[in-house]
Amino acid sequence: MNLGAYIDTFLDLIYPRNIYCILCNESIKKTEKYSLCSSCIQKIKFIEGRACEKCGKPLEDFYFLQECPDCIKTKHFFTKGFSCVEYNEHMKELVYKLKYKNQRYIAYHMAEIMVDKLKKQKLSNIDYIVPVPLYKKKEKNRGFNQADLLSKYIGKAMDWKVSRKNLIKIKDTKAQNQLTRNERKNNLKDAFSVRLLEQFTDKNILLVDDVYTTGSTVDACCREIVKARPKKIYVISFATGKNI
Ligand SMILES: [Zn+2]
Ligand SMILES: [Zn+2]
Repeated sequence: MNLGAYIDTFLDLIYPRNIYCILCNESIKKTEKYSLCSSCIQKIKFIEGRACEKCGKPLEDFYFLQECPDCIKTKHFFTKGFSCVEYNEHMKELVYKLKYKNQRYIAYHMAEIMVDKLKKQKLSNIDYIVPVPLYKKKEKNRGFNQADLLSKYIGKAMDWKVSRKNLIKIKDTKAQNQLTRNERKNNLKDAFSVRLLEQFTDKNILLVDDVYTTGSTVDACCREIVKARPKKIYVISFATGKNI
């Protein structure tokens, strides 16, 4: 176990789960699901209705096609994507607290939501969970990679292996949220690399990220993973926006 893993295990031991609401910090009953109080759970829009068959974004009822406008226009490199909740202001705040306020315990509860989604989809035979990597320096500054934490908890709950070091980020890119769609693609060009292609050959891969926006990041990852000729690449994100 490396030092980071020790620290994570230590945090797992000392952080008392299901005592405070992860959104408003009010104390809650131990039985409350996902460590959310009864009022905050209402603020979450779970993606349970119609969703894009390719990327998993929620679809409006009036929209009659099976794939969202994004997926009709763009070729994706993954087999199928799933997402759990709509990325509204509350979810933005939650992800912000995890990433920039070092509230790592939030990842555990986000992963609980993701595990429930995976179970509902009856996804099985995953050989490797692969977290979307951060550039080394960025991970060092933040102290952790949120996708790593999510992958770790999902792996434990589903009994799937996590491959942490095979997909790596080799270019320090600009923050994606400030860029247009085309700039996003260029920004991520050659940003990722797979170290040992054989590890993913003929395997079912589940790529994990916190937020799915246009899919540029996961596509840039999958573009590298497909070089290994995997069986299937699934993608799961915690939150996603609507595009219809
Ligand atoms: Zn609350
Ligand atoms: Zn889509």
